[in-house]
Amino acid sequence: MTSPATAPLHDPTGDPAPGSTTEVKTTTCYMCACRCGIRVHLRDSGQGPQVRYIEGNPDHPLNKGILCAKGSSGIMKQYSPARLTQPLKRKAGTERGSGQYEPISWDETFLILEKRLSHLRATDPKKFALFTGRDQMQALTGLFARQFGTPNYAAHGGFCSVNMAAGMIYTIGGSFWEFGGPDLERAKLFVMIGTAEDHHSNPMKAMLSKFKRNGGRFIAINPIRTGYSAIADEWIPIRPGTDGALIMALIRELITLGLYDRDFVTRYTNAGQLVNQDEASDDFGMMMRNPEGDVINPLRHHNFMWWDREQGKPVADHAEGSDPRLFGEYAMPDGTPVKPAFQLLEERVRSCTPEWAEEITGVPAARIRALAHEMGVTARDQSIELPIAWTDFWGRKHKSVKGNPVAFHAMRGLAAHSNGFQSIRALSILMSLLGTIDRPGGFRHKAPYPRAVPPNARPPKGPASIKPNTPLDAPPLGWVETPADLCVDDQGQPVRIDKGFSWEYPFSAHGLMHNVITNAWRGDPYPIDTLMLFMANMAWNSTMNTSEVRKMLVDKREDGEYKIPFIVVCDAFQSETTAFADLILPDTTYLERHDAMSMLDRPISEYDGPCDSVRVPVLPPLGQCKPFQEVLVELAGRLHLPAFINADGGRKYKGYTDFIVNYETAPGSGIGFLTGWRGKNGDQSLRGEPNPKQWEQYAANNCVHHYSMPPEHQYMRNWNRGYLEWAQKVGLRRDLDPITIHIYSEFMQRFRLAAQGKGQGRQPPEALRDRVATYFDPLPFWYEPLEVQSSDKAAYPLAAVTQRPMAMYHSWDSQNPWLRQIHSHNFLFVNPKTAQAQGIEDGGWMWVESQWGKVRCLCRYSEAVEPGTVWTWNAIGKSKGAWSLTDKADESEKGFLLNHLISEELTSANGGKVSNADPITGQAGWYDVRVRIRAAAKDEAAQSWPQFSSTPALPGTAQTVPRWRAWFAGISK
Ligand code: SF4
Repeated sequence: MTSPATAPLHDPTGDPAPGSTTEVKTTTCYMCACRCGIRVHLRDSGQGPQVRYIEGNPDHPLNKGILCAKGSSGIMKQYSPARLTQPLKRKAGTERGSGQYEPISWDETFLILEKRLSHLRATDPKKFALFTGRDQMQALTGLFARQFGTPNYAAHGGFCSVNMAAGMIYTIGGSFWEFGGPDLERAKLFVMIGTAEDHHSNPMKAMLSKFKRNGGRFIAINPIRTGYSAIADEWIPIRPGTDGALIMALIRELITLGLYDRDFVTRYTNAGQLVNQDEASDDFGMMMRNPEGDVINPLRHHNFMWWDREQGKPVADHAEGSDPRLFGEYAMPDGTPVKPAFQLLEERVRSCTPEWAEEITGVPAARIRALAHEMGVTARDQSIELPIAWTDFWGRKHKSVKGNPVAFHAMRGLAAHSNGFQSIRALSILMSLLGTIDRPGGFRHKAPYPRAVPPNARPPKGPASIKPNTPLDAPPLGWVETPADLCVDDQGQPVRIDKGFSWEYPFSAHGLMHNVITNAWRGDPYPIDTLMLFMANMAWNSTMNTSEVRKMLVDKREDGEYKIPFIVVCDAFQSETTAFADLILPDTTYLERHDAMSMLDRPISEYDGPCDSVRVPVLPPLGQCKPFQEVLVELAGRLHLPAFINADGGRKYKGYTDFIVNYETAPGSGIGFLTGWRGKNGDQSLRGEPNPKQWEQYAANNCVHHYSMPPEHQYMRNWNRGYLEWAQKVGLRRDLDPITIHIYSEFMQRFRLAAQGKGQGRQPPEALRDRVATYFDPLPFWYEPLEVQSSDKAAYPLAAVTQRPMAMYHSWDSQNPWLRQIHSHNFLFVNPKTAQAQGIEDGGWMWVESQWGKVRCLCRYSEAVEPGTVWTWNAIGKSKGAWSLTDKADESEKGFLLNHLISEELTSANGGKVSNADPITGQAGWYDVRVRIRAAAKDEAAQSWPQFSSTPALPGTAQTVPRWRAWFAGISK
């Protein structure tokens, strides 16, 4: 018999507490962005339901029951002592950053917001800026900003991976992760580039496991061998920021060896289209148009020309019976010299030899040759044929669907460089040459993709779009096609606070969150009044130059007013950023609220058809927590934003759930946030009248709606007439036209021509002409990242990058006692040879320095990193006082944040400031920093540096944190 002293705190095999009730509810995980289905086991012992444990939902299409460590640990996030529980206002007379707050009611909170925001809306709406982190409700937050009338809105994409989205979407009309991915069911060769263990976590692990069991070959190309790469059959180490050079060389080899899929390339890409080569023409570099050809879509013409190989003359593209030349140089009947786009690609890569790439990447030339050969031969010799008949856009009937089983996946390692867009364009072209787009064994789209190249939404076009008390005439974020689409004034100057969609970053489809605070602080291009942040830890890991940005948040004008006068932070936890808020709104956790993972946003679609999902509350909100969705719908009603009120001025929606059910993209469109159980009786999918029981029907069906398309619609969707007609009917596409792969990008060339002073339209300011003309190249090219170009590489010989750890997501999980057992602090991982050359011991304290700053941290030797790179896990290091960690917590004593070493700005060609970002998309170039390392002196403090003074626990959070914490279904210690 066990004595009381040694009795287990909890016996999991024992009877439930007497009189308690148990229940299992399904919802959707949000311990990371993958959105796996979960079943939450609850017990109620008379004090309200409490989470007993969380398991994966076996009936969910995304994870099929798999749950990762983070997902299981959601309990500890729910019961985190860092939970905010009531609205808080900075105490009068206290300084921002000191963490002195007083609780206020929601009524008072809404009155403060209503008064301030209604004044801004009536006077100058752009003085309100709304920026969000990794939320999953951008369709709502974007709608709120548009209705408010401010262009100053974006989520975290500009910091995360907009290059991946934009580089691929501007080329193939789709992208990785939420919008598409590798078909590992049928692939034989899988090449993963620049991906650790973050995006698409559980589904990727499950697919990889099956792929390997089926005998597939997995090659990981990455400076570091971690995460998924750990199970790769081969690791090819590469220097950060050089992937584009490797890919250019691979393209060259495929063309030289003739190992590209000619049939696919000619029919489904613009490789055969003729390009004007008359340098004197205003249309130099643009596609030749056939004035008598069918434009197909009046909004986006498709009347291109091919050079027919049999007839030896120009013909309409896709003319029945014609076959275009891909190589050569020709003259049109009027004498205009032309070349097929593929010829221009071949000329572009001709000098990109494997030896050239070896110099840049560190990958041996022989390995590059062998890799290209392996890709090409696998695609050609192991091709797949599925007995699925389909008809292409031009009416040709195909008896089967063919596939070339070489699949790729890439993410932030490729994207977070200032040359990422062009590198990802190159990757998309490589995938296209291998004939793998939306085919079995290759890349597969997920609804609502494929979309037009580029998609139809355009951002506001300039100051005229911003009017008091008026919604914007366009969504704040969109896809730029021509200079006319830029959001600039008559002088070509930026209109957005982050300078998105300006000549500095024309294709910034996700905005530039990383420059908002710096620009607002400097008043460049203008000062703002109110900055509202949702789920964005912008005083810590969601910014660069973190120490300086924290100073900007508390900096004052001469009149004593803060340079950013009012900061509102909505979050569920006391983060590093809450200390800088003037008003704090306590958000709910994912277990306490409704959410829609919408087809209007980023759904969880499968390759075989549209799939969206929801969260439903399994617990009541803690304290006075209120979902940010509810806050926005309430505010929208109070501010009389037109989409949220009736003609009589009364509120249209009772709250968020009512909004999700009843909102339609246009009156009577039948298209809303959710695609499942539409129509009055809930018997329609994708399109139908609002259904008042929609939430209940999602809840009764594992919180997910999956529409599986017939097999003949599942492949070749860019050109599949049956699919395209259906997609237009159900509202997934506006137009009925083919989505041609853009090997050669006319859109880029249009910007280059404008920069060269050609044409009648908008042209960049003088200071930016060279920049635009250089980077807006219609064909991909590799250039050294901008920060590397401006670094002294002899003084700073190493590249430094971060990766997201497998066990933690953004900054959320350093508060999680279960996950803290896996990591409570981070190391700088250094190749032993590199560390030993500097006399740095394994486990010893060291300094890592960039041209911008320095950090003291702990070293860990690792053979799994190429010698020219050092790296660390992101966001484990914490500032004291945040996340209810004690001041002695490992996270702040030993953990560190590499972002202190990375500048958010660089010096521009004219000596001014420009974002440290991709000059095409504005993607933060935070993987471009160059560093040097040295051992810390023996007598230095055994503590990471920089350190920040601790901020006090906020009212409503746990004021004291027990030394250790346990959670055993109803027993919290
Ligand atoms: S991968 Fe893990 S943390 Fe992410 S949604 Fe799935 S279970 Fe949750």
